[in-house]
Amino acid sequence: MKTAVIGYPRIGTLRELKFATEQYFKGQISESALLATAEKLRQAHWLSQQQAKIDFIASNDFSFYDQMLDTAVLLNAIPARYRQLRLSPLEQYFAMARGYQGENGDVKALPMKKWFNTNYHYLEPELDDESELKLVGDTFIQAYLEAKALNIDTKPVIIGPFTFLKLVRYRGKKRLGDFIPQAITAYQAILHQLNKLATQWVQFDEPALVMDLDQTDIADFTALYQAILPKKQQVKVLLQTYFGDIRDSYVAVTQLDFDGIGLDFVEGEQSLSLLQKHGFSEKVLFAGVVNGKNIWKNNYAKTLKLLAQLSAVSKQTVLSTSCSLLHVPYSLVHETQLAAEHKRYFAFAQEKLTELSDLSHLAEVDELQQDPLYQDNQHLFASARYTHNAAVHDRVAGLTEADFKRTPALAVRAEQQVTAFALPLLPTTTIGSFPQTAEIRSYRAQFKKGEISAKQYQRFIQQKIADCIAVQTQIGLDVLVHGEFERNDMVEFFGEHLAGFLFTEKAWVQSYGTRCVKPPIIWGDVARRAPMTVPWSVYAQAQTDKLVKGMLTGPVTILNWSFPREDLALRESALQIALAIREEVLDLEAAGIRIIQVDEAALKEKLPLRRQDWHRHYLDWAIPAFRLVHSGVKPQTQIHTHMCYSEFAEIIPEIDAMDADVISFEASRSNLSIIQVLKSHHFQTAVGPGVYDIHSPRIPSVEEISQSLEQMLFEVGKHKLWVNPDCGLKTRGEPETVASLTHMVAAAKAVRQKLIKLP
Ligand code: GLN
Ligand code: ZN
Repeated sequence: MKTAVIGYPRIGTLRELKFATEQYFKGQISESALLATAEKLRQAHWLSQQQAKIDFIASNDFSFYDQMLDTAVLLNAIPARYRQLRLSPLEQYFAMARGYQGENGDVKALPMKKWFNTNYHYLEPELDDESELKLVGDTFIQAYLEAKALNIDTKPVIIGPFTFLKLVRYRGKKRLGDFIPQAITAYQAILHQLNKLATQWVQFDEPALVMDLDQTDIADFTALYQAILPKKQQVKVLLQTYFGDIRDSYVAVTQLDFDGIGLDFVEGEQSLSLLQKHGFSEKVLFAGVVNGKNIWKNNYAKTLKLLAQLSAVSKQTVLSTSCSLLHVPYSLVHETQLAAEHKRYFAFAQEKLTELSDLSHLAEVDELQQDPLYQDNQHLFASARYTHNAAVHDRVAGLTEADFKRTPALAVRAEQQVTAFALPLLPTTTIGSFPQTAEIRSYRAQFKKGEISAKQYQRFIQQKIADCIAVQTQIGLDVLVHGEFERNDMVEFFGEHLAGFLFTEKAWVQSYGTRCVKPPIIWGDVARRAPMTVPWSVYAQAQTDKLVKGMLTGPVTILNWSFPREDLALRESALQIALAIREEVLDLEAAGIRIIQVDEAALKEKLPLRRQDWHRHYLDWAIPAFRLVHSGVKPQTQIHTHMCYSEFAEIIPEIDAMDADVISFEASRSNLSIIQVLKSHHFQTAVGPGVYDIHSPRIPSVEEISQSLEQMLFEVGKHKLWVNPDCGLKTRGEPETVASLTHMVAAAKAVRQKLIKLP
């Protein structure tokens, strides 16, 4: 059996791309140095795949920031405001990704959106009535030739026209259908170019097919590909889907003239039954059987059984990953701390290449049971793995309805809190973290390595907290934070303090652009060992008379930003984590912390892509898990939560049912549209829609923030509005942070002034 890879991590085995790009942003290296690093990385990625004897190696899966942005540039979808900056192509590209503020103008970045059900974020391209889609780039050709020069024959990967047009934001009157003719011409031109190069295969990624689709969508998809796929051509077209099954379009897709179709058998609940029910014709099936999202080793016996079922329907099957390997870390080789007994359970991107070649071999051997590769794998899954904590299981089993309900009702609590806190209208605050300087990171690293004592480390962090409180006081913020200097990451920190987690050293996964996260691994049952944040919060509160918010990460986010177990239901893991965080909440309250924020930054992340799965598979346990965390606090203790994406318009009743007192969320890049929706749904929770974008170094002006606030006030009402940036500040520099927050506080004061003057 042949093997294929949908896409490979591009950030580098030790995040080389991140570091080079950030140096380039700071003007420390030239454009050509950045390009040289990128070229070296691409070559290394191809060579790894070649060494593992992968038959279909991906090219053009590299990106300097994001593949949707690349596709927009490839297809000439560059909004006029970026063209008007008159920058070099690479600078223009980064201006779209990060915003631009300089001699040539002042423009915000494109909105950033979550890539389906992953923690990867793409930039949302725009089309307006003047836009003209056409092929203007040649990155896929360059990539193909670059690999060819190394004697590696690759399949270029390009986001398909349907997914591109589905994810675009339409700014004018024209809609998806209006751009179909232009898209057809552009993709025909792509195929024409590839034919000229005598490329064997091209991969068009169409993950949009795994969402809920209606008849119009299917007609659009069909219209696009009927025209794009020529009758006679040399290059073969692989239609690649991932992140689920294509139940709405399976019949339509298999009737089209694709040479290969890639289906996901890991997340695609119905992939197998669709195949069995409707057959698969003469095409090549690229079977996504190696999980591209999780890090556990593949169970060969299970996979081989599936492959046998597939071969009953499909004549030609290629073994593939379930999605791009972008979503798993690069390689286990850098994990020196992980015990061998743990390590043997895992496969990162590089190890997954080996799994593909193992499986390809095992699918064809005669004496499977005798094969050592098979025996080893069988042995791993047959032997017991120590994970169990009976007390935790008992506590979860003993939960009753009352544990999920906070009393009294929100409105009653709100009144008591207003009296108790005496905050001004439009209280200002931040989301929690303050800039993490090189000094802080180096101190944390030294502490981890045992180079400085716990006492020294504690004194250092306390000094940072005290400085941070002083800065916030100087700026004039109303509710302060301790700054989160003790945390490398909002999830890893808790992972390290809770029992049941394993953590890695270099297992980074790209989240957006140069930002990577290092998700911990949930290995066993989760429990709290000791207070995790209480001493820091208490220290911070002791520095000021103002209120200091305690800062925790919620159970759903901890779960969604970890690599979950595959031997326990997600619901069970979420409740275990919720019980642990609940203990921390109650300890913070007992220690005198009166506002506690429980971040659910990633709540939306694992919302199933299909509406019919939302409640059953997810919301029915995720929302109660959050309530379990805070149902035990007093009415006068104010619970905040924070979500990174404002795209929760469709689950507003569920967000309200989290029953927090205040929620902050991202709104600045998405033009405040969410706020109207909140109003129309009679949202009860008080809100802090982010008034400026922290994913960009741009400093917003006082006027700009005041205007946003006035718009927000109009929709939200003065008693329910908080003023804050749209996320934590840890990735920002100190000067820009102080400047932006100062503007924010000035804007809040100006608007308050007007409110007071109003009758
Ligand atoms: N409290 C966290 C911080 O400020 C929240 C981060 C997030 O939402 N991603 O860093
Ligand atoms: Zn956030």
